[in-house]
Amino acid sequence: MAQKETAPQTAPVATATANVEANHKRGNLNAIVQQQLEKATAAINMSKDVALILSQPKNEIIVNFPVRMDDGSFQLFKGYRVQHNNILGPYKGGIRYHEDVTLDELKGLAAAMTWKSALHDIPFGGGKGGIKFNPRLNSKSELERITRRYTHALGSNIGPEFDIPAPDVGTNGQIMVWLMDTYMNVVGFEEKNAVRRVVTGKTITAGGSYGRESATGQGVVHCIVEWARHKRFNLNGCTYMVQGYGNVGSWASRLLAKLGATLVATGDYKGYIYNPEGLNTHKLTEHVVATGSVAGYKGAKPITRDEFFQVECDLFIPAALELEIDEKEAKALRCKVIVEGANGPTYPEAEPILAEKGIDVLPDILVNSGGVMVSYFEWMQNKRSERWELEEVEQRLDHGMKRTYGQVQELALEKKMDYRTAAYAIGLKRIEQAYSERGIFP
Ligand code: NAD
Repeated sequence: MAQKETAPQTAPVATATANVEANHKRGNLNAIVQQQLEKATAAINMSKDVALILSQPKNEIIVNFPVRMDDGSFQLFKGYRVQHNNILGPYKGGIRYHEDVTLDELKGLAAAMTWKSALHDIPFGGGKGGIKFNPRLNSKSELERITRRYTHALGSNIGPEFDIPAPDVGTNGQIMVWLMDTYMNVVGFEEKNAVRRVVTGKTITAGGSYGRESATGQGVVHCIVEWARHKRFNLNGCTYMVQGYGNVGSWASRLLAKLGATLVATGDYKGYIYNPEGLNTHKLTEHVVATGSVAGYKGAKPITRDEFFQVECDLFIPAALELEIDEKEAKALRCKVIVEGANGPTYPEAEPILAEKGIDVLPDILVNSGGVMVSYFEWMQNKRSERWELEEVEQRLDHGMKRTYGQVQELALEKKMDYRTAAYAIGLKRIEQAYSERGIFP
């Protein structure tokens, strides 16, 4: 049952490539998450008091910390951890290493984690953290020291029953292990091994769970299967395109290919590629592992970002960064459904255009929650000193994703809501109930 861990490790590749990311200007994710919150609270007539509490994170932590670089000089880094809400359980959410990280972006992402855990009835709250830098420009040893210094600077602001980080853009299992090891070594000898669940998404050897690395991509595919079943759409022989070929994008691609679907276009921070005859997802993954990007892959021709959004296909999986689908992209898209692997990829302004064109949007907090679900399984295994077989993890993930998908679909149909509002509504109802029972203390 040991799973082959083969996701492109996009983070620790120390190639001094200049940042040639598409010059796509992003708006304010937090403002958009607030807009979506307001829409959902109105739809379910949620208590104004609870809506007020949820409109801001509980804690916003900023740390500035020095790191010794390979050449002996010191560099100062800015790290964040936003703790949005913990009424349903410890704060939970990824750590992002990216040059565009801002406090506002993390506030939006942390809030989305609160709704996501609540939607799936996972006893966690929501958080998100990150460091503002480009990890592709650092060596492996620098990445280790940056991670350890960041963890040390956060100190007791994280903890196995308080706030539990996980991987996100630019981080992976190795980075989680450095984080865990640093935390373990400052808590004292007796507790040392008991606290490894301070972080999830670890490598298997360090206490990670089988199936965690592929979990988010697998969850994306479970949602696609459910959507197709409901629409009586045959996935075997259909086409799809994926933006971002990192952890989420590459796993979703390979798992969809197994169902007989054909990847026709993909792209990442360095460029976009297209082949109407289909791309071999395994060979493409090997190329990305070797080079850090899909660019330059021989089995496809390069296209521009604009051309990518015009590719005709059945399914589109955004799995890169947030706020990629604005009005322009919505008008260009020629797919049947957008399956939000990334967090917050769609602007609210794009949604009516997509609806008008008959394009379904399966929302992030439903679609990409396989990661937090298996993170919860990892945390439980660590807590009980157990190791679950891959089959057991996969079965639980399959059950959890399909159950929630069914609930969202039922509410959406019953109340004639879009999927996003229905997903928010289910999560927010659980949070509202918890506040109505517990109140605020003192
Ligand atoms: P990753 O770092 O493994 O991969 C990110 C991918 O996006 C890479 O291929 C990168 O080249 C590409 N990318 C970066 N900037 C880009 C740009 N400007 N244009 C196009 N492509 C760009 O990250 P990941 O873990 O796969 O996360 C991807 C998305 O999924 C993020 O929105 C993240 O928050 C979300 N997500 C991840 C998980 C998880 O378990 N890893 C869980 C839930 C949601």
